[in-house]
Amino acid sequence: MKIKDKEFTILINEADLQQRIGEIGRTINSDYKDKKPLFIGILNGSFMFVADIMKHISIPSEVSFIKMASYNEMASSGTVKELIGLNENIFKRHVVVLEDIIDSGLTISGVLDQFRERGAASVEVATLLLKPDALKTPVDIKYTGFEIPNKFVVGYGLDYDGLGRNTRAIYQLK
Ligand code: 5GP
Ligand code: MG
Repeated sequence: MKIKDKEFTILINEADLQQRIGEIGRTINSDYKDKKPLFIGILNGSFMFVADIMKHISIPSEVSFIKMASYNEMASSGTVKELIGLNENIFKRHVVVLEDIIDSGLTISGVLDQFRERGAASVEVATLLLKPDALKTPVDIKYTGFEIPNKFVVGYGLDYDGLGRNTRAIYQLK
């Protein structure tokens, strides 16, 4: 697959993605039974993951989204920006943050700090993808879909310069 000047090759196909997302969803159903969790997706990249995992969530729960833009084209800028758009009161709520990918870990660490400051009862992370070799700060991640090599990926919500979010599989830079 080609996006602008770059060639990408398949990394995780649709069936494998959907199977793993179902497994995580069912695990969350049992872990959060009677806790009425608040799922918070980090836009833009998590939109497909949130839509698909929520189809497996069968316990009472709420869903919302925030934005934390901090990524420029191919490299993490390293600066964590402000949290935009949180309208729910998270005080004493059990929050599950839904992320597309954790790379340096800086974005998610910033999000977790802000949620804890606001008095959430618990804050856990479910990330579809994790690049263990790229982590720059320790992050406690409860649910991980796939650990992947430290290579740039696109598809299934993830973009290259705004493009490529609209695929059912995930691709990596050739
Ligand atoms: P971190 O703060 O962990 O370095 O980066 C987190 C954010 O950077 C992710 O939510 C995602 O938006 C973006 N990101 C990190 N790695 C990749 C990648 O390989 N491809 C794309 N498209 N975005 C990435
Ligand atoms: Mg993201």
